Amino acid sequence: MTKITVQSVDNKRRPPGEVLGLKEKYGSASPRGNSYYSQALKCSREHALSSLVRLRPERDDDALTTGWLFHMGLEVYRRLIMVEQHAQGIEWCRKQPGGIDEKTRQAAEDLAYATMAPFENEPGYADETYPVLMRCLKSYFEQARQHRYFILAVEEQLMTTVPIEYSARLDLIVVDMGSTAAQDVTRAVEYKSARAIAANLLAGYQLNLQTLGQAWLFLKCVDVTKYPRFASVRVDITSKTKVPQHIAVEMVPTPAGLRAFEKAVLSYQRIIEAAARENYPPNFTCCAGAARSFRQCQYYNLCFSNPDLQIADLLAQEQPPFGFVKEDLPTLDNEQE
Ligand code: SF4
Repeated sequence: MTKITVQSVDNKRRPPGEVLGLKEKYGSASPRGNSYYSQALKCSREHALSSLVRLRPERDDDALTTGWLFHMGLEVYRRLIMVEQHAQGIEWCRKQPGGIDEKTRQAAEDLAYATMAPFENEPGYADETYPVLMRCLKSYFEQARQHRYFILAVEEQLMTTVPIEYSARLDLIVVDMGSTAAQDVTRAVEYKSARAIAANLLAGYQLNLQTLGQAWLFLKCVDVTKYPRFASVRVDITSKTKVPQHIAVEMVPTPAGLRAFEKAVLSYQRIIEAAARENYPPNFTCCAGAARSFRQCQYYNLCFSNPDLQIADLLAQEQPPFGFVKEDLPTLDNEQE
């Protein structure tokens, strides 16, 4: 008989923020971004549980936590490099291989590793999460030597309320340096970690709420006359395989595509208002299975054990249901692993 082995991590482990000794929550999710609208379109009950009641499962999802820590390691690395680049200026950076001197690059890598060191012997992280994280970071830093980025901003949140409510936290905004200033372009870079890099993953970013939203917000909120031409949102994917792979997918915005995005989000806002009038009906077509990439919705057990669940009741209760806490999410979107 075939034996099926299910890999799992100890999900009774301490939350990552507690392990790191963070006093404040790291990188709260942007309030009206991709995750907000994606959840609302997928299931209005899920949207209400997440965005109104703010219920989070007590036990963390390892894929999301690994993605969260990977982002944090890259943020630490990029911030240190950015400080030195701004001290030296872009023309100095243009002459350095990879846009920065070796001493600063090494210091940035060391700082990222030191930031993750508390997980090395932490129960629930030491066996699986920490080794995966370290091999992804090491491999990423190696391939980042080929980037020619002059860093403009790290983890920058942009938001508008007119004509649509939309926000995004951009992982990285760079001038991608050419040999001369005339060849420079500006890009937004979005980090992703994935179980593996497959063709359907790569194709998905050309028509994608998150990448369209980032391009739309950048062109809406930033004085683009001060920077080189905005060329793309670059989705920078790292696989968590034994030997990590890296691939970059460019989403080049078009005026028609951005107009379609704005019109679509206006409709989404009306759909959310209509769902509220219907008391946030459950969408039983996407609780599990293929629609969830063969996982379960994070509220599956709650909806299953409380078929008559009322959002108004949950909002009135101070105590969250068993197995949940009431709080904000770390900066994670549904596509991130
Ligand atoms: S379990 Fe199903 S009905 Fe409940 S929130 Fe998730 S998708 Fe919606």
